[in-house]
Parts: sequence; structure tokens; C-alpha cells
Amino acid sequence: MNPLKQRIADSVDRLGDELTKLSHAIHAHPELAFKETRAAGWLTEFLGAQGFRVERGVGGVETAFQASFEAGPGPTLAILCEYDALPGVGHACGHNVIAAAGAGAGAALMAVRDRLPAGRILVIGTPAEEMGGGKGRLVEAGLFRDVDAAMMIHGFDRTLLHQDLLGVVRVTFEWAGRAAHASVDPWEGVNALDACVQAFNGIAMLRQQMRPDCRIHGIVSEGGAAANVIPERAVADFNVRGPSLEAMWALERRVVAVAEGASAATGTRLTVTRHPDVYEPLKRNEILLEVFAGNLAATGLAEGPAAPDRVASSDIGNVSQVTPTIHAWIAIAPLGTAIHTREFAAAAAAPTARAGLLAGAKLMALSALDLLADPVRVKSMKEEFARR
Ligand SMILES: [Zn+2]
Ligand SMILES: [Zn+2]
Repeated sequence: MNPLKQRIADSVDRLGDELTKLSHAIHAHPELAFKETRAAGWLTEFLGAQGFRVERGVGGVETAFQASFEAGPGPTLAILCEYDALPGVGHACGHNVIAAAGAGAGAALMAVRDRLPAGRILVIGTPAEEMGGGKGRLVEAGLFRDVDAAMMIHGFDRTLLHQDLLGVVRVTFEWAGRAAHASVDPWEGVNALDACVQAFNGIAMLRQQMRPDCRIHGIVSEGGAAANVIPERAVADFNVRGPSLEAMWALERRVVAVAEGASAATGTRLTVTRHPDVYEPLKRNEILLEVFAGNLAATGLAEGPAAPDRVASSDIGNVSQVTPTIHAWIAIAPLGTAIHTREFAAAAAAPTARAGLLAGAKLMALSALDLLADPVRVKSMKEEFARR
């Protein structure tokens, strides 16, 4: 490692106890989407004390923040923090580690501010990843308009620089029919539940013609009031996922067509609600991945076994559609520990999480330095983004 990189890594280590404390405090006080007031408070307090200029409530999202410093005119790099928890299982996705790693990466760059190549560092606090899609709102508010690259890490049971994240769109179908006594006058009824069942069957058939990297899954939210009444109303909620914006929206149109067909077949009236909190797919950037790969060994990390079939979704996808983005998975739990479990929640505050936190912070800070030091690479990274 060159001396400047060594100083950055040393800064992360020096802050190790403080970052772990920050991570544990967030872990011990899990806050749900858009209610992360304490986490946002602790993080901005920490970044402010490091010398960052802190703005709270950015993008019209109360628990979002942006902390920044500038070392002369140059590229703008954003390091992202997540800090929302899950209902019931707390920090079972380890967002406390993401938050502390992002803050630590920013602080380590601040520590070498006087020797940093020209550029601007942002640490952006992005609420509501688990539900609500906070990053989508921040993208729409224009927070990433001048950002040349965005980076974050996420805890996992292994280290993987890239894992596909599917886009996901939520759609609700409501079928309206007519109630009637199910035995006395069934012919007077129009069965909304039949439309719903028909839609599930049609979607099950559609699944056979679907690419293996797509997903459709749904539930019946309302299916009638009593067995002796023909259901006059049925409601189903579906998630439709695809690896690209085109694939996701094309599949969504097919699913809606199936619901419409079921409505026609049963004589019910269909209302389709498309929910606005779309999580877009992750668009990968090879150059950004190369930069991170170049710093992996120096942080003591090594990539684990690939798991291409295990695909989730995240609102980081929305960011990746507007600027070059990396979402690196960092091992913070033993291999085989699934996220969103109580086991993962426990791991997210264990010593393995501290190691992953510090390694992740170094990985982002060192990669940010590489980008600031190489404007040609930044240019080709952006060209690649525009091509894809
Ligand atoms: Zn999660
Ligand atoms: Zn997560």
C-alpha cells in the first residue's frame, strides 16, 4: 500500500472503537423505515465532529442527510449509509454495519483531506431501504444529479463485489363482482374470487415462459366474507421482479394482462394499482468493480463462493440507474447465515461484524482515493455507464 492509502487504512483502524460503538448503538435501537431519527442523529453528530458540513432532512426526507467536504474542484463521490431495521427482527439485515462503514469511510478520507486529490466527498444517509424506497425519493429529488459515482457496502455471509439485484414493481388487483346467496341464487352472483384464482393460475402458467432470472410472487389479500356468499370483492398483491428495467416492465405488463383476462372471463370489474415505490434493478459498472477489486486484498477481504440464484432487490438499484454505482457485499457473518433471520441480527453486532465494518470502510475509502487520483478512469467509468 502506498503511504497515503496506509494513512487512510490506519485512520479507519484508529476510529475502530468509535465506529463499532456507533454500529452497536444503532443495532440496539432498531428503527423502521422513515422513522430512523436516532440513527440519523448519531451519524450526523459523528460526521459533524469529523469536520463534515452536515445537512439534515435532504430531498424532503426527514431522516435522510448529506454530509460533505470538498478538496478542490474534481469528481463528486457519494458513500451511502442505510440504517433502517426490520419489524420484529431488528437489524437482521445489518444496516447498522452499513451506516457505520459509510461514516467510517468518509471520516478516513476527511483525515487525509489536505493530501487528497481534488474532488468532493459526500456521505449520504438513505432511509427506508427495507420498505418505502428512500433512495428512489432522493434520486427524484435530484440528490444524485452531480454525483459521479455512488458506493456502499452491505453485510452478508460472504464477500461478493457484485450480486445482481432485481428490479421490483408492486401491483395490486381488485376485482369487483356481485354478492348472492351461494346456494339459493348462485347464478345471480358475479364471483370476484374466481377472477382472483384465475389470475393466480394464469400467472402460474406464465411462469413457465418466464426467464429464470425473473420472479413473480403474490398473495390473496381479500377473498370473500363467508363461504355461503358469492364473493363480491377479491384483492391480490403481486411483486414482479426482473434483472433489467425492460424485462421488469415487460413482465409486469404480462401480469396485468393476465389479471385483465381473468376479469373478462368472470365478468368482474378490475382496478389495477401500480405502487410508486419501484425498486429498480442494479446496473453494474465494470470499472467501478475493477477499482474495488484492486483494493480487496489490502483490506484483508477475499471473495466468497458465488450465489447467482439468490437474488434480492434494493433501492440502490434506483441510484445505479442514474450514476455509476457499486453495492458490495461484505462478510460479517459465518457462511450459510441467511439475512433477515435472528441469527443474522445477532451476527450484525458480533466481532465478525466489526471486522467486516472496518474492512468495508477501508475498501470504500481506498477506492474513492483511486477514483479521485485518476480522472481518466472516472471518465471511462461514466462512458461505460452511458453505454449500458
Ligand atoms: Zn434487508
Ligand atoms: Zn439490507
